[in-house]
Amino acid sequence: MKILIGLYRSQPGWQIVLQQEGLQYEIIKLEKPISIESYSVLIINDVLDNEQYSRVKEFAQNGGAVLFSSSAYAETTNNKFRSKNIKYLVMPSDSIFAELGLIDFHTKFIQLRDKSFEIIDRTLNVQSQKVGKGHILFIPFDVNAVILDTNSIRKKIWVERKELPSEIVAKVSKGKIRKILSKILEFLYLQRDLPFVQLWQFPKTWKNLFMFRVDTDHCSTRQALEFHKICKKNNICGTWFVDTVSKETLKNAYKKMDDQEIALHCRRHLVFHDYKTNLENIKNGLEDLKEVGIEVTGFAAPFGDWNENLAKVLEKFDFDYSSEFTLDYDDLPFYPYIQGKKSSVLQIPIHPVSTGRLRRSHFTDEEKWQYFKKFIDRQIALNDPIFIYHHPSHDQLNLFNKIFEYINSKNINKMNYKEFSVWWKKRLSFQYELNFANDEINCNFENETSEFSFKISYNNKSV
Ligand SMILES: [Zn+2]
Repeated sequence: MKILIGLYRSQPGWQIVLQQEGLQYEIIKLEKPISIESYSVLIINDVLDNEQYSRVKEFAQNGGAVLFSSSAYAETTNNKFRSKNIKYLVMPSDSIFAELGLIDFHTKFIQLRDKSFEIIDRTLNVQSQKVGKGHILFIPFDVNAVILDTNSIRKKIWVERKELPSEIVAKVSKGKIRKILSKILEFLYLQRDLPFVQLWQFPKTWKNLFMFRVDTDHCSTRQALEFHKICKKNNICGTWFVDTVSKETLKNAYKKMDDQEIALHCRRHLVFHDYKTNLENIKNGLEDLKEVGIEVTGFAAPFGDWNENLAKVLEKFDFDYSSEFTLDYDDLPFYPYIQGKKSSVLQIPIHPVSTGRLRRSHFTDEEKWQYFKKFIDRQIALNDPIFIYHHPSHDQLNLFNKIFEYINSKNINKMNYKEFSVWWKKRLSFQYELNFANDEINCNFENETSEFSFKISYNNKSV
């Protein structure tokens, strides 16, 4: 029995989620009958013809599990449905998605009007249907559309406090939507009594990962060097996205930071709408760095701003990765799509709230510390990445000394952006095959390596 997902339509949004979640899949054509031994779950993300639909139904009847897009199902079967625009939903505490809290969707939800369907989550309206020995679950929104959405909006970040910090970030909560899909797929695996096996999201068997980013705009040589001391003292090898305006700071600070990764932020602290001005700005920045002998492979845009013309320029200069929270935040890495084409520059999302945003909302130093401590505790509890950033121009040496000490006291594994992007790309190309028989999981892979591990959820246990 194969542990493998069959994805009907090759849609980038779905592929991004499956790759982030470390779930193996292949594209299926539905040209002939499908045995339940060959796929753990089928994802039907587009309209089917009658023959294809009867093969999918037969797969479910024989004991298979199917995740069907509600709108594709309605069109395939001429079923009646209701549609509703959903801006956001708040998951109640008794939901299986409770930990996700508020989720921004900004999309249309489709509810099938068939009273025989059960509902497995009332807030999200995930409907399910028992078919013979198997199950079909219906996903009420267009996964491809929400994951590929590139709109941004100013959001208030919720904390237990009256005045809330805000930042311009990706409009859709892509990281949370990925978790919804993963939970639904896990639910289907467990319905079939199959182990839910995921290629783990961090190197080796690490439970967590801390990455620290520095944006150097408006920071003096003195501020850079003082902040570097705090990093060094706490054994933090961060990634410094530098502005290249001051040759003096490039030479006397960044060039000398042997234990830190240096990457590019900008020459002018702006992102432009057009290709040409972005090209000039980045070219100038790279030339400034070259002059002082600094080589870089990474980029983070001013204001976390991302657009397709910027992305094309990053491709032209062969950057390995970039990080922009108006495209995505609090999520795992992925390759964005530019006009339907996969970019060659890996996107590494970050937590978008910096001390500058907290200061604007009048947080005291103690409140700032509590904000980051709570964030770190939550990420540890959920095995989510702890990727935060700071501007040394805002000083806050004591606060970051405390944050770094806290990270070290929790024995969190650390990497810089370059190392993680290299590892993530290896993870994406790691070849393996999973089989399940007689209560045993068999994994075949070409090269034995300790760089990767699997997370297995089975019978309500996770290992
Ligand atoms: Zn900046």
